[in-house]
Amino acid sequence: MWNITTLKRTFKLAKLYKELNEKYFGGILGDVKFEGNPRLWDTFAAVATIYTYKNLCGEKVATIKFDTKYDWDEKDIRRVLLHEMIHYYIFVKLGRRLIFPHGLPFIWIMLRINRKYDEHIKLYWI
Ligand SMILES: [Zn+2]
Repeated sequence: MWNITTLKRTFKLAKLYKELNEKYFGGILGDVKFEGNPRLWDTFAAVATIYTYKNLCGEKVATIKFDTKYDWDEKDIRRVLLHEMIHYYIFVKLGRRLIFPHGLPFIWIMLRINRKYDEHIKLYWI
C-alpha cells in the first residue's frame, strides 16, 4: 500500500511528468497536482484518473489521482501517467473535455507515441 508521498518520492513523479511533458507534448501541459486514492480500482476499474479544470486565473491545470492500493512499478507508473497526460493534452488543445474521452483523438495520439517511441500506453487498464 502506497501513499502519495512515497509514490511521488519513489518514482520521482514531478521529474517524470516534466520529462514526458517536454518529450511528447511540447511542454504545453500546465501544473499538475498528484493525489492518492485507495478506491479507484473499485469505483472506476482504473488505476489512475485525471481531473482537468481551469483555475481562478483561467489556467488549465489538472489533478491526477493514483490508486494507492495498486502494486506500482516504474513501467506501470510511466504508461499510466502518459495515459492521463494524453487526456490533459486534449483538454489543453480543445479547451474542454471530450464526451468520449477514449475516442479517436485519444487513440490517435496514443498510437503515435507508442509506435514512434516504443512506449506502452494502454486504452484501458483491463
Ligand atoms: Zn483514460
